[in-house]
Amino acid sequence: MITECPHCESKVDCIEKGVVDIDIEHTHIPAKYVLLECKVCHNPLLGISELIQTGEDDWEWDSASRLWPSPETEIDWDIPEIARNSLIEAKICFKAKAYSACAVMCGRSIEGVCKHHDPKIKTLAGGLKKLREDGVIDDRIYGWGEALRENRNLGAHATTEKVAKDDARDLLDFSVAICEYVFVLNAKFERFQKRRAKT
Ligand SMILES: [Zn+2]
Repeated sequence: MITECPHCESKVDCIEKGVVDIDIEHTHIPAKYVLLECKVCHNPLLGISELIQTGEDDWEWDSASRLWPSPETEIDWDIPEIARNSLIEAKICFKAKAYSACAVMCGRSIEGVCKHHDPKIKTLAGGLKKLREDGVIDDRIYGWGEALRENRNLGAHATTEKVAKDDARDLLDFSVAICEYVFVLNAKFERFQKRRAKT
């Protein structure tokens, strides 16, 4: 069975070590959890695979989607699509060592946060100010956002300056942190306060 090995950073052939058959949300599409061992580095992996139709009477197990170690492109589902898609692409760019493109995608994800808050927002600079004014982000997160905006510009415009790997990693971490702060933690805190108000 084929799956993506994070240690080998590529799709690898694996030895199947164990199988548990499942019925995904009662769709009756045969699927299974598989414990795998990478044939190259011998590390363990857990995946999920579905049986797919490849011909009129032919069925084959699809390559396994990795569940553990959890894929780097995993983004919290509470983050809305407008920011989420750019975050996923930023992670893909980073993995592909395309650091300037990663910086651009990080900026785009924060642009998504701004647009989600106020669809009339035209620029990232204006959007960040609005988020701060409306109390969605505080001064520190605003500072991260500004750093992101400056580096986004560096990545987006044709200059000879490149975004360094370390900078791209920090920008990526800031982007994920801003999105989680705005969409995951704020919502969690609101729910927490509502529960407290009830008791
Ligand atoms: Zn491996």
